[in-house]
Amino acid sequence: IPVALAGRGYEVVIEGGLLDRLPQAAAPFLKGYGNGRAVPFVADTNTRRLYAPAMERALAAHNLKAEWFIVEPGEDAKSWRGLEKLTDWLLALGVTRKDHVFALGGGVVGDLVGFACAITKRGCGFVQIPTTLLAQVDSSVGGKTAINTAAGKNLIGAFHQPSLVLIDPLVLATLPPREMRAGYAEVLKYGLLGDAAFFAWLEANGDKVLAREPAALEHAIATSIAMKARIVAEDERETADRRALLNLGHTFGHALEAETGFSQALLHGEAVALGMVLAARYSARRGEISQEDAARATAAIAAAGLPSEIAALGLSRDGAALVEHMRHDKKAEGTTLPFLLLKALGEAYVARDVDLADIAAFLDGEL
Ligand code: ADP
Ligand code: ZN
Repeated sequence: IPVALAGRGYEVVIEGGLLDRLPQAAAPFLKGYGNGRAVPFVADTNTRRLYAPAMERALAAHNLKAEWFIVEPGEDAKSWRGLEKLTDWLLALGVTRKDHVFALGGGVVGDLVGFACAITKRGCGFVQIPTTLLAQVDSSVGGKTAINTAAGKNLIGAFHQPSLVLIDPLVLATLPPREMRAGYAEVLKYGLLGDAAFFAWLEANGDKVLAREPAALEHAIATSIAMKARIVAEDERETADRRALLNLGHTFGHALEAETGFSQALLHGEAVALGMVLAARYSARRGEISQEDAARATAAIAAAGLPSEIAALGLSRDGAALVEHMRHDKKAEGTTLPFLLLKALGEAYVARDVDLADIAAFLDGEL
């Protein structure tokens, strides 16, 4: 699937068993390596343990050797300290602007490597090999890279597009079920925001996707990526309302993540799932979709084993507290915040007339 960006377009390749064919699949980006120069790879301890051996065998068959930078699993790697260690390592390796760094992991590894490559030598290349469903359908494509700081998540970063994205759905076989469901929330997001037929397909086939049945899984990933690629090509830096559509469920979701301390209590995808329920119900409250459609969106989320009722989170029953987090959202401009709402199941839009006091009142009823 091409991501068509003028001069800097790239391919997203989706294929079972792709990792075993890495030297062929990534050939143009491996040219500078060999003859004593190892290929720089970044992974976390899990993805290294699970998938490095197969890739190293494939590389060895082509007289290539990998050199690894390993981080602990979890968001802590996306820090100033983590960035400093990685960029020091890249500089020590003598990485040049023509080189490509390979990121093997979920969104954490991809975001960290992408940002490190955005700033190393003012920008070197990188190849994404996403290993979580969330990274495969969302974060590995589109060029948003970032680290977390004391002020919040993903507030320091850059737009830096990868040169290639290699998606091997077979690696999802080892992904913990909860991570699989969290990634699936972003898949449902694509259906809800822009493709009613895909949403209906997910209602019927979501269980197969979650069970990692190859055909269903590939269809879900390819459809998600095709939509993301199209939207990113239309609005690379989110300067129009186009790319913002991808934030469906995320404004409510980020507030819930902040309220639960960005902890394991609520994964990003779980927060997005709840956020999409809230966006659907709020859209129904405004009369933009029917109560039945809001219920259908909620049912699809619940059927996937994702949280669909914020009351069940046991938060304080105060909508104003959640709205307070929204004021710190990256997208907030003064006291207004663009909200992603639904005109229909399969059609999201950016509402600019949303009153945060009304959101607080709505949330009071949901909490
Ligand atoms: P996300 O893509 O949701 O941001 P992370 O990068 O935080 O996710 O990864 C979530 C967890 O899943 C981490 O503990 C990571 O090591 C683990 N993980 C990533 N890919 C796989 C995989 N294919 N199999 C098993 N565990 C994986
Ligand atoms: Zn997301």
